[in-house]
Parts: sequence; structure tokens; C-alpha cells
Amino acid sequence: MSVIRNVLIWDSGRTAAEYGDIAIDGAGNISAVTPPNEAAGETLFDGRGRALAMPGLVNAHTHVSMTLLRGLGEELPLMDWLRQRIFPVEDRLTAAHIRSGAELALLEMLSGGVTCFADMYFFMTEVAEATLRSGMRAALCRGLTGDDQSKLDENIALADEYDGREGRIAVQLGPHAPYTVPRDALKRIAAAARERNIGIHFHWLETKGELESFESEHKTAPVDYLEDAGLLDVRELILAHSVWFPTEELSRVKRDNVTLVHCPKSNLKLGSGYAPVKEMLDAGVNAALGTDGAASNNRLDMWDEMRTCALMHKGYRGDPTVVSARDVLRMATADGARGLGFRNVGLIRENYAADIAIVDIDRPQYVGLDEANAPEFIVYAGSSRDVAATIVSGRLLYKEGRFLTLDAEEIMRTASRHREEITKC
Ligand SMILES: [Zn+2]
Repeated sequence: MSVIRNVLIWDSGRTAAEYGDIAIDGAGNISAVTPPNEAAGETLFDGRGRALAMPGLVNAHTHVSMTLLRGLGEELPLMDWLRQRIFPVEDRLTAAHIRSGAELALLEMLSGGVTCFADMYFFMTEVAEATLRSGMRAALCRGLTGDDQSKLDENIALADEYDGREGRIAVQLGPHAPYTVPRDALKRIAAAARERNIGIHFHWLETKGELESFESEHKTAPVDYLEDAGLLDVRELILAHSVWFPTEELSRVKRDNVTLVHCPKSNLKLGSGYAPVKEMLDAGVNAALGTDGAASNNRLDMWDEMRTCALMHKGYRGDPTVVSARDVLRMATADGARGLGFRNVGLIRENYAADIAIVDIDRPQYVGLDEANAPEFIVYAGSSRDVAATIVSGRLLYKEGRFLTLDAEEIMRTASRHREEITKC
């Protein structure tokens, strides 16, 4: 038994934060939440009344290994950016590049309190192994383009090998997007996911042009297309971006197994638009938050994502009451974890996994934080720099600048070398 002692505890199941201890059992689950300094067991972290514990942040859409591609093709339109700068470099990436890019991302995410992420890329066994080594939790898929049976077989093999591994890995099939996967292939992918009871992770309605293609090319409405392809009935359907989701159709994706992942900063940077997040929340759709890859953000910083999300919808709507700090914190924790297929993750309560971010609130920007206003302080005043520790399944993975499962120096050295390799030719 280990204990996170004397911290201000907040999760999206509470209206107010509360001081207490979090006791964690040998399996890495929360066994009790008690008043401060009452839980018995070895101290994992002592907050001394000056730290806040919240559920670890969930980055619900990213491409971790793209950390090696950060800064390439800045300020180009999406399709030019992909075709001129990203795809040619991606063609040169090897398994070793994927590994070091992924590890670089894990360092960045762990230092910002991220405990779980959803990733779509290739050489995904490298990402799975890096995730397992790091101690983090992830939902992984192999990005699928065209009508390519060998890639689909690779994704299925990934699922056979890793889905459910150590309770920390979930595997989805990863059809890239409606504009890169033919409809017949998409139907076969969805059928394979249903047959194996795994999920699907899909880029969806990221640009206005993509929405228009449903009328001009696919000759069907977007949600009819999802339904017709059999995507709505998979174990979990993760729809990244959903910027141009038709708001009148949102009620059709209000389902336990469907999650729309809002990526505010990637959408802003690529000029893709504003996702209808207020309407998603009003419709009761499960909505999560993601950074997208480091080549289109360029941070894997969920604090930055939360703050941007809470601000941008108020700004362009001219309404400070929409998309509250509490909404975005819930999206970035409990709703993200649920969307990625992890049950009993994302809240600080008995029988939930001890996936916890600890925030140092003994800092100038937190003077005035109390039990009632903690979520608003986190979203509007806080930043990833305030993360003191990151814990997954009861295991301390990051504490005060030190990584306990990853060799940060070696990872950065290798990643720098790989970055030169892939950008030189
Ligand atoms: Zn993406």
C-alpha cells in the first residue's frame, strides 16, 4: 500500500476540491480516499497541504513520433503541408526513428502530467514497447491508408499482441481519414474491428473541404457515411477533430462508444476552423481533448490545450459562459479515458486506476486557490510547468524534473541524431 499524502484532491466527479490522502493498493488502483494524514502506508508523495492531485491528463489524439518532424513546413495549408513536407519525410522513417520520436514525446507528456494518450502512426510495436517501458497508458493504432491488406494485417497483429496488455494498452484499427481510405476498404476495416471487438481511431471532418467532399464525392451525409461503413458499432470509435461536424447530426453520435476529440491548437494553427464544442457538450456527446502531432501544434501540452479550448470558444462566440473550465478538465481526464476504451480511469475514487497528476500550488499564480475554485485556477492560471509529479497505475514516473523510467539524456541525444538524418536528404 502506498499513499499520496495531504493533497487537495479534485476530479470531475466533484463540485469542490477536498484535502485528503489517496491510498493505492499493490495493483495500482485507488483503495481509499481519506481525510489528510490518515491513510496508512508508505508515502509515495507528500503534498504537505501545498499540492493538488487531479486525474492524469489524457491526450486523446496524437502522433507521438512526429516530435522528430516538429517545425517542418510551418504555416502551410493542411494538404500542402502533408503532401510537400510531411509525407516525403514519413516515407524515410525507420523503426528506430519511431522509437526515439515516441520516447521524446513521452518525456514531454509525462513532464506535463499526461498519463494516457491515443496514438496513430506506423511501426506501432515500437510505440507500444516504449509506452510499456515508460509505465504510461495508451490507445494505439496503425495508421491505414489506401486499400492495403498488409497494413491492416499489421494493425490486427498489433491488436492480437497488445490489446489489454498489462491493463495499460488498448488497440484500435486506424483508418487515416475519409480522403485517404476508399469506402470499401473502410467497410472491411470496420468489419474487422467488429469481428475482433476492438475500436477504430479515425481523422474526421478536419477541414471544410472534407465536409464538402461528402456531397461532391461520397454522395452521402457524413453521419450516414459512418453508419453505412459500420463504424458506429465498433467497441470504441475515436473521431479526431470533428471540426466540421454537422451540429444537427450530433445527437446521432451520442453513444457510449463514440468520442469526438477536439484538437483546438492544431485546428487553429492549420486554419481548419472552430469545432462546435458547445453544441457537442449540449448534445451530451462524449468529447475529449488532444494535441494532434507535434508537427501541427507544436506542443504536446494538455494544459495549453485546455486553456486554449476554454478561451477560444468564448472568444469567437462572444460568450464567456460557454465551454467552462470544468468542461475542459472533464474532457481532458475522465471523458478522454473513457473514449479511449479505459474503464475506471480518470477519477480519483476507490477502484479507479491511480493515474494522477500532482500540481505544485505553492506558487505565486495559485495564491487565492481554494476548494471551490481549483478547476478554474488550473485551467486559467496554471500551466504544465506546475506539474510536480506524474503517476500511472500507482507508479511514480516523473517527479520534479526527473524521469524515473526513461533515460531523458540518452533519448534526447538519439532523437537529435535522428532528426538530422530524416531532414538532411
Ligand atoms: Zn492527427
